[in-house]
Amino acid sequence: MFLYRNVFMSTRFHSLNNLYSTNINNTDNSTRITAIFGENVFTYQTARQFLSDESYKSLMASVRAGQKIDRAMANHIANGIRAWAEAKGVSHFTHWFQPLTGSSAEKHDSFFTIKGDGTPIEQFEGDALIQQEPDASSFPSGGLRATFEARGYTAWDPSSPAFIMDIAHGKTLCIPTIFVAYTGESLDYKAPLLKAIEALNKSAVDVCNYFDKNVSKVSATLGWEQEYFVIDEGLFNARPDLLMCGRTVFGHSPAKGQQLEDHYFGSIPERIYAFMRDFENESYRLGIPLRTRHNEVAPAQFECAPIYEEVNLAVDHNTLLMDIMTRVATRHRLRVLLHEKPFAGINGSGKHNNWSLATDTGVNLLAPGKTPKTNLMFLTFFVNAIKAVHDYADILRASIASAQNDFRLGANEAPPAIISVFIGQYLSKVLNDVKERVGDKFDEQDETMLKIDIHKSIPELLMDNTDRNRTSPFAFTGNKFEFRAVGSSANCANPMTILNTIMAATLKQFKKDVDGLIEKGEKKEIAIMHTIREYIVASEKVLFEGDGYSDEWTKEAERRGLPNVKTTPLALDAMVTEKAKNLFETNKIYSHVELEARHEIELEKYIKKVQIEGRIMAELATSHIVPAAIRYQNLLVNNIKGLKEIGLSESSYANQMQILEAISDHVNSLSDQVEKMIEARKKCNNMENSREMALAYCTDVKEKFFDEIRYHADKLELLVDDKEWSLPKYRELLFLR
Ligand code: ADP
Ligand code: MG
Repeated sequence: MFLYRNVFMSTRFHSLNNLYSTNINNTDNSTRITAIFGENVFTYQTARQFLSDESYKSLMASVRAGQKIDRAMANHIANGIRAWAEAKGVSHFTHWFQPLTGSSAEKHDSFFTIKGDGTPIEQFEGDALIQQEPDASSFPSGGLRATFEARGYTAWDPSSPAFIMDIAHGKTLCIPTIFVAYTGESLDYKAPLLKAIEALNKSAVDVCNYFDKNVSKVSATLGWEQEYFVIDEGLFNARPDLLMCGRTVFGHSPAKGQQLEDHYFGSIPERIYAFMRDFENESYRLGIPLRTRHNEVAPAQFECAPIYEEVNLAVDHNTLLMDIMTRVATRHRLRVLLHEKPFAGINGSGKHNNWSLATDTGVNLLAPGKTPKTNLMFLTFFVNAIKAVHDYADILRASIASAQNDFRLGANEAPPAIISVFIGQYLSKVLNDVKERVGDKFDEQDETMLKIDIHKSIPELLMDNTDRNRTSPFAFTGNKFEFRAVGSSANCANPMTILNTIMAATLKQFKKDVDGLIEKGEKKEIAIMHTIREYIVASEKVLFEGDGYSDEWTKEAERRGLPNVKTTPLALDAMVTEKAKNLFETNKIYSHVELEARHEIELEKYIKKVQIEGRIMAELATSHIVPAAIRYQNLLVNNIKGLKEIGLSESSYANQMQILEAISDHVNSLSDQVEKMIEARKKCNNMENSREMALAYCTDVKEKFFDEIRYHADKLELLVDDKEWSLPKYRELLFLR
């Protein structure tokens, strides 16, 4: 108790209510995970129990081969799902979707209805399962729908199972759906992802069939690693900036930050641990296969990661997890910060997207094989992935662009804004060998070529320390690529849609190139080797093994002609180039119109985020920081007057005079800069064009004023009496538990 005396005495902590809160945990900690795993999911096993043979078959055909489910069958399935849900005490259902706001959306309806003759009954019909028409007018559409044409509909995605949300004493059946405009354009993250998955499936199967005719389906797999901060609810509520923008716009760095590196993998504080156990159990019930948890690098920062899954399911699970974490935290009087950079000066949060490709024959296409044939298959997919990232680096960069992620990318602690690929020493050598050895003499050497012994090196590869290169935005880690530049609050669907699309496009081209050589009479394996070689040469400039945070890399990347786009408004340009339009249209992911709309939506999001931050800065400066400074100035003034009065010499208050002056200087500069920033915002707000406005917000508001304003505010934090300071400080936010 003694330790926190000052905290409780200080005015800014009247809301700090629960440093000693009781641990809330709904599940007995001795419960085995397998006993609760998936209990709130309409799994395929559950479907087997609750559906007739015929409707079960129809559901599975839809899941496995994308076959359509007819209305009559949908009625049977809906009945089965309702029977299951009711047995679990569910009274309401909702279509659960992921609009472009970034979080998930729900609109609950009850099973309860009244028949024409007045009989009250509970029902859930096929129509309600398949399609709903939520009022779509308040979701972002980028101008796709004028408000008077606000109709949009949600449509069932049978490939992601229904689940029950059991939160706050109410159970709701959630049906994962896509969300599209009445005119067919997609308004969410899931619809384009499903299209990209299909495009990838097609091109990847074609290429797989060079090696194995039995492959009939290829799925992308995703294992995300979610980083987040956790802080006390009372402290959170006392910080208007956290409340409004999820990030602190002010705050002097604490005496101790992360320099001791004592947090990473350290023991998890008890209160946080109770919270983790609680949200993990909720997640297990929903079939989210969480596997690891640990402290991250920064104080109060943590991470969790699941076993990887098919990408569409993994994306749904991540979206759900972010929601569950946020809800469960409040039970523990805690708050989860998913923002990419909640605190200046210490690490931000990312969400590594581990990505690979799996065949329906059980092969991971990005895992080196054990035979020459499977090795060649690995090499094919490996090199195609590199080529895809090389050719479409700008679009991949755009897929992770957001106002929040701008604080991370290229900011000396997260992957740089330059997209490059890290593959490790050994595979670099393999690619080099292929490049050198496949020449004119290839015919005589093909046998040796096919025997490139990749698999033996794998243990070596994993032990290789360079493999832990944390500075690369896109790194090969043994049997998958790790896309590390994704932001912690992002919906993974966007980067995954792009990655799968560019891979689909590259594989399609690969097939064309190889077939072209075969038609000219080349042997299949040799045609493949030639094409691989050509791709290695064409894309080698994207490969980088060194320190991605270094200045040398920035220079080197520029020399190589790799784009280094640091801000979101500029990064987003890549979405609407001719190249992008071509890519997305030929692969049937986005129409021109949809791309333009998405571009517009992202720009608007950016503008709003910077706008809100600017407003909060001004508000905090004017109503928290300046008043605290003035109160302390008065104290000093009175004290100096007193000293003078009793006849002490100037030297006895010289130091206080200096502090007074320093405070005055900072208060003046702070107020002056805030005024100017408000003027600059007004100018921006008058702009018509979203891109121009976003650019202006970026350079004329954010870059020009934010750091400067912060500088003076943070100086004042150090100068002003702690008792007068109304905002919780970094040391309290980050270190109090
Ligand atoms: P490491 O500790 O070397 O990063 P892990 O095996 O612990 O590797 O995996 C880290 C993340 O990568 C986990 O979230 C995991 O689910 C994911 N992952 C592993 N294999 C694959 C794969 N084939 N496809 C997608 N993600 C994968
Ligand atoms: Mg990590």
